[in-house]
Amino acid sequence: MNGKTKWMAIRSTAALPLALLACGTTLAAPRPVADMVLLHGTVIPMTAPDAKASALAVKDGKILAVGSDAEVEKLKGKATQVVDLAGRTLLPGFIDAHGHITMLAQQADLAALSPPPVGGVSSIAGLQETLRAYIMVHPQGWIIGSGYDDAELAEKRHPTRQELDAVLADRPILIMHASGHLAAANTKALELAGLLHPDKDPPGGVIRREADGKTASGVIEEGALFKLYGLMPQPTLDHQLEQLTKAQHVYASYGLTTAQDGATMHAAWDLLQAAARRKALFLDVHALPLLNQPWEGFDAIPFNAPYVDHLRAAGVKIIADGSPQGRTAWLSHPYHVPPEGKGADYAGYPQLKEEVLRAMLAKADEHGWQAYIHVNGDAAIQQLIDAVRVVGQQSGRPMQRTIAIHSQTATLDELKAMKTLDIEPTFFASHTYYWGDWHREVTLGPSRADRISPQRDAFDVGLKPSIHNDSPIVPPDMIRLIWSAATRRTRSNDILGPEQRVTPYEALMEVTRNAAYEIHEEAAKGTLEPGKVADLVILDSNPLTVPPEDLLKVKVMGTIKDGHYIFGPP
Ligand SMILES: [Zn+2]
Ligand SMILES: [Zn+2]
Repeated sequence: MNGKTKWMAIRSTAALPLALLACGTTLAAPRPVADMVLLHGTVIPMTAPDAKASALAVKDGKILAVGSDAEVEKLKGKATQVVDLAGRTLLPGFIDAHGHITMLAQQADLAALSPPPVGGVSSIAGLQETLRAYIMVHPQGWIIGSGYDDAELAEKRHPTRQELDAVLADRPILIMHASGHLAAANTKALELAGLLHPDKDPPGGVIRREADGKTASGVIEEGALFKLYGLMPQPTLDHQLEQLTKAQHVYASYGLTTAQDGATMHAAWDLLQAAARRKALFLDVHALPLLNQPWEGFDAIPFNAPYVDHLRAAGVKIIADGSPQGRTAWLSHPYHVPPEGKGADYAGYPQLKEEVLRAMLAKADEHGWQAYIHVNGDAAIQQLIDAVRVVGQQSGRPMQRTIAIHSQTATLDELKAMKTLDIEPTFFASHTYYWGDWHREVTLGPSRADRISPQRDAFDVGLKPSIHNDSPIVPPDMIRLIWSAATRRTRSNDILGPEQRVTPYEALMEVTRNAAYEIHEEAAKGTLEPGKVADLVILDSNPLTVPPEDLLKVKVMGTIKDGHYIFGPP
């Protein structure tokens, strides 16, 4: 079966029941009775920039009507739950265009090493102190931390293995960099993984060395990390399910009703399936099993099936390069300032050889799996564009709706090529805040930094961009994400590339209808229309009328999934 047929199949299974009541039409008898009505608000359906209503009715988890208070009040029965929005704003529930909900769940167990505003670690001494405090309450086994950021440490570098040995030498320590693409290990961890005196780097990865050129320094990049992941102890299933529930509550508190698990490995897929079977998912979770690390039974995953107990496999994830803030993303021109030990010509590196990427895409295409490829550097984006073109030529059937995850340094020419080849970008838009200054001063330099996450250009060439936080890389804070897209403010309050700002309405499109489109769920989600799922978010103010600079002050007051509150007062 080719890709096209499969997608048509899923569209028809997800097809909507006939709209029961369209805005402004006359009621037919018998009049349906709503389970819930939300009245006296500013309802932004996201169907068109000027579309507006004041009320919405829900029945059987679906939207029954969108219209005026008078129209919607007619659908009220004795048992109908009435929500007085009292002037607050109602929008489609936010959709996570890219993130890793099972990783956010795991992170709760790890030593928290993020810099402000997420955490409090801003020096290597502070990092050591945080690890020591963590060890006090975790007296045995591996010590795993996450979120440290060399860009925000006073020393502006990664800790060495000796600095981690100084915390504790007789137990393995592994701390993940804020990008998720690098880590630092102590000597014990390197020994256990057989990486202390490596003869060569593993494919798609780098083991950084000390001055002798032989001994590992402790910093491990990209593909070299899988060896260490394999040694990580797994908590019990019950504990993992508990953490997954907490992670869903975090997502819901930010107005998200659909989450992504955007690089699902075997253990995470098993966990998600167990959670679904136990009815423990209350957000829709669309998983992207990781094609870089396939497992036995991978091909039998029911891709393209509708949600069952809130879980579906939406497509496959392929990682093609690294992280710009970690300076492993593959650029066409050298980094502004190379990382320690690298020459002035260093431009990052690909994770996959051209023919390997092409083979992965061809396999996905043959099976009808939608392909989601992590590409940050413009060289990696070009590699993807070329591969998508060749796969289409070879099969005689262009690939459809390929997703370029992050696309942070996409050039204008690349965006135009993406439009031609049906490749849609999802941008890591909050980078302008978290690493904007670092990109301007260190990684990319001023002119390339100004163009990072080029959303204005993407809209202008006719693409349907979405935006994401890549949780847990940064918290899944959708309000900060929308504010970042509209203002491009950095930590130092500079504006990074003002010409790439988008309007607040476009920013909302990027977290609702465009995000739904990219994951093939636009028939059911992304706008407020009769027949679509009643996934809703209530905000205390209207993002379309507050000054863009004040978007950061907008608060999520309630989140509703399938017609039921999952965050906020019932
Ligand atoms: Zn990624
Ligand atoms: Zn990611």
